[in-house]
Amino acid sequence: MCYAQEQEMTMHEIVVNLHMHTRYSDGGGSHQDIAEAALKCGIDAAIVTDHNVLARGFEGYIKDDNKKVLMVIGEEIHDQDRDPQKNHLLVFGAEKELATFADDPQILINAVRESNGLCFLAHPNDPAAPAFHETDITWINWSATNYTGIELWNGFSELKTLIPTKLHGVFYAFFPQFIAHHPIPATLRKWDELLASNRVVAIGGSDAHANKMHLGPISRVIFPYEFHFKAINTHVILPNPLTGDANIDKKMIYDSLFAGHCFIGYDRPAPTRGFRFTAQGLEADSIMGDEIPARSGVTLQAHTPSVAEIRLIKDGKTIQTWKNQNIAMHITTEPGVYRIEVYRNYLGRKRGWIFSNPIYVR
Ligand SMILES: [Zn+2]
Ligand SMILES: [Zn+2]
Repeated sequence: MCYAQEQEMTMHEIVVNLHMHTRYSDGGGSHQDIAEAALKCGIDAAIVTDHNVLARGFEGYIKDDNKKVLMVIGEEIHDQDRDPQKNHLLVFGAEKELATFADDPQILINAVRESNGLCFLAHPNDPAAPAFHETDITWINWSATNYTGIELWNGFSELKTLIPTKLHGVFYAFFPQFIAHHPIPATLRKWDELLASNRVVAIGGSDAHANKMHLGPISRVIFPYEFHFKAINTHVILPNPLTGDANIDKKMIYDSLFAGHCFIGYDRPAPTRGFRFTAQGLEADSIMGDEIPARSGVTLQAHTPSVAEIRLIKDGKTIQTWKNQNIAMHITTEPGVYRIEVYRNYLGRKRGWIFSNPIYVR
């Protein structure tokens, strides 16, 4: 058995959709709607993050026939008194209400970490969309430290870059499959810049709101939860299979997210389940999020569930591209931060399909 097959057998991949809103904040649906949509779409876990409210009491496994989904409750915190609005922070696993710390992002981040929580800078670049009275809610406190990572790809921020007029908005409301292209380039650049000196875990969020749009006599739920659960997901690699115990499984998911054992998959063009990025050295084997020593050489390997364009990025620069392949291999003795981007054609455009977390070759 080759190494890749061995790795395959010891890894347990689950599909997590995270960052979504219910009627507890500005979403249009309920936790029950989310659970039903999640069961229909076959995702393994949904992390609900209402604005500045930790809506407890909705955690646990929801079952339907022989399917189940783990509902997890986090929070999206920001300073509601700040004008203009900036600095949204996704908080998971703190298990207490921390929105009272929102007026200072660093104090908030420290409070999350002291509570053994994880936090991610939400939609780091999030431009205004004046046609829809949506303001710019970019992250601006870049001097902040100690956060777990960033939301590299946010479905809603990308939409905001595409709707200069109301008509564009109506088009994407009816044809949402045309929205996702890739993470906002400025966010990708920022991530590479941060990675030069820090470990920064990337996750993908849907920012689902499932709100109603009214247009004359027409009323329709735009971007329903179901749409998002088949789009930008965070695929998490667990050390063991899910146990069915909500608390144990939640902790295992958070631990793997913290370690960066995850990748972002845009699952609409084709399923991304099965993607792997690994490194083999003389003394150690690693997966995404891990460090591995450079001495004696490291073999980096990526494989994708179907053929696509695979790019290997080192310290922010593409160093090798494989077209129409499902396996990529690169041997190196050079220290650096290595990560994978995968692209494929979908609906007439080349679109981002998979964004891995890095392997840190030291
Ligand atoms: Zn937000
Ligand atoms: Zn949000």
